[in-house]
Amino acid sequence: MFAKYLQKHKTKNEFIYITYIMKLIFVTWWVISGLWKGITAASIGRMMKSAGYKVTMAKMDPYLQIDAGTMSPYEHGETFVTTDWFETDLDLWHYERFINEELTRYSSVTTGQIYRSVMTKERRGDYLGKTVQVIPHVTNEIKDRIRKLSEWSDVAIIEIWGTVWDIEWPHFIEAMRQLRHDLWKENVLFVHVAPIVTVTTSWEMKTKAIQHSIIKLREVWIHANVLVCRTQKPLEDWVKWKLAMFCDIDESRIIEAVDQNIYQVPLAFQKQWLDKYIIKRFFNEDKGSDLTKREELVNKLMNPKKEITVWISGKYTNLDDSYISVLEALKHAWANYDTKINIERLETTEYQWDNWQDKLQKFISDKNISAIVSPGWFGDRGIEWMINVANYCRGNNLPYLWLCLGLQVATIAFARNICEIPHANSREFDPNGNQNVIDIMETQKWITKKWWTMRLGSYDAILKPDTKIRNLYKEFNQIDLSSNLVKERHRHRFEVNPNYHKKLLENWFVVSGTSPDGTLVEFIEIPDHKYYAATQAHPELKSRINKPHPLFLWLVKASIS
Ligand code: GLN
Repeated sequence: MFAKYLQKHKTKNEFIYITYIMKLIFVTWWVISGLWKGITAASIGRMMKSAGYKVTMAKMDPYLQIDAGTMSPYEHGETFVTTDWFETDLDLWHYERFINEELTRYSSVTTGQIYRSVMTKERRGDYLGKTVQVIPHVTNEIKDRIRKLSEWSDVAIIEIWGTVWDIEWPHFIEAMRQLRHDLWKENVLFVHVAPIVTVTTSWEMKTKAIQHSIIKLREVWIHANVLVCRTQKPLEDWVKWKLAMFCDIDESRIIEAVDQNIYQVPLAFQKQWLDKYIIKRFFNEDKGSDLTKREELVNKLMNPKKEITVWISGKYTNLDDSYISVLEALKHAWANYDTKINIERLETTEYQWDNWQDKLQKFISDKNISAIVSPGWFGDRGIEWMINVANYCRGNNLPYLWLCLGLQVATIAFARNICEIPHANSREFDPNGNQNVIDIMETQKWITKKWWTMRLGSYDAILKPDTKIRNLYKEFNQIDLSSNLVKERHRHRFEVNPNYHKKLLENWFVVSGTSPDGTLVEFIEIPDHKYYAATQAHPELKSRINKPHPLFLWLVKASIS
């Protein structure tokens, strides 16, 4: 039957992209963004993985950039980095955390990449004699990407950004529609996420917006199989009935996603039998997923025994999505230590106070802050104030975790105050400085294209025996003990200048980890301090609820004590 089907299409179309094993779930959305379509996709992934299937995931983004690297976090939330040095949308981070798999650059598809590839092929002469068009050339390119991605998985879950009739979306939706046609509908599932609008005067749940979104999808020949309703409170029976009736979707497949902790979402979906429905439909098996471990962790998150406050001191603190991985990494440590973590946000430029020592002290004691995390950023805004905070925390034994730029700031502060290098700075903030303890590496200086100067992706570091950081990785079982090797993700341009290594080390600056050849500083710590750790990497990108990162665990532990 299937072979027949393929043959039929081989004669009709120029290309056959599809293999019969593909099982695809497309997640679409409508009305407003921020509906948890990423969390919905990731939660489905978690359920499928916990049921024993191999899962992969991807995000289709409409923008023309090749990657998310050049966008400010205020534009698009935090930038995530894959192990294979690719900068992506932060949804990929949700996917990795939820399905507990490392994804690659192939999981991040943008319109820019698709068009670049089509144009390269066009110039190479691949389409000679043909008119190059959105259909079939652009849509085939998208389908090809999906095929490659799903080759080694039982299920591929693909999130599509953009709503129906968005000017940026048609090529993705057409590719999605064609795949359903090529693959037979049994192998493709459409999950549509839309909000229940609640009118605050009567608190009545309104379904019209959702009904319209389903109609819109039908205009492009997509019929949602599952409808996920984002709602502030559980759906009343009549709402489900009405949606089922007017959207022509079985009532059992109207799923509610009530406002809650994101880690609860897979559990909530499981309770509504979504896992069983998908498994039955795709694999004809009567089984569900096993989320017992997740349930235990969620219980710890929901019922903490202690409480602390952590100050996130950074440049983009006004938007939670900008530092979401840091916030979530703290939550992972929270689940591990039964300790609720309240977050205090004060942007670096907001505390340019006169008499800063007293004011900083007052802020810290008023807010009851027991630890500080300084996440990474680019540009010089707020740097001098961070240097002040670095000195304050070193002197006052306040637990401090410095991430990426943080390590650079901590080094500058240390160089100025302890090593007597008065004009210590970074080439990023003082391009002509002659005491740049943080600098661009010699090998990168000739590079003119900005992107190429970035150290991106996963890099090895060797930790020094008997350092706190090494023992910490050991305590939490995240180090290769035979070589003291750890792998962390990077996204930065500058490094501790090797010309200053000696001078810094003479002044008990403890380098707890370097690149395998010893040239790049990866971790530093300060002995006799409650917790003062810095890393050139972004450990928050690897933290997961079932595998919290040692540096965050230690921060919480030090703060509780
Ligand atoms: N701006 C610094 C650099 O390029 C740090 C970047 C970051 O914190 N991710 O090296």
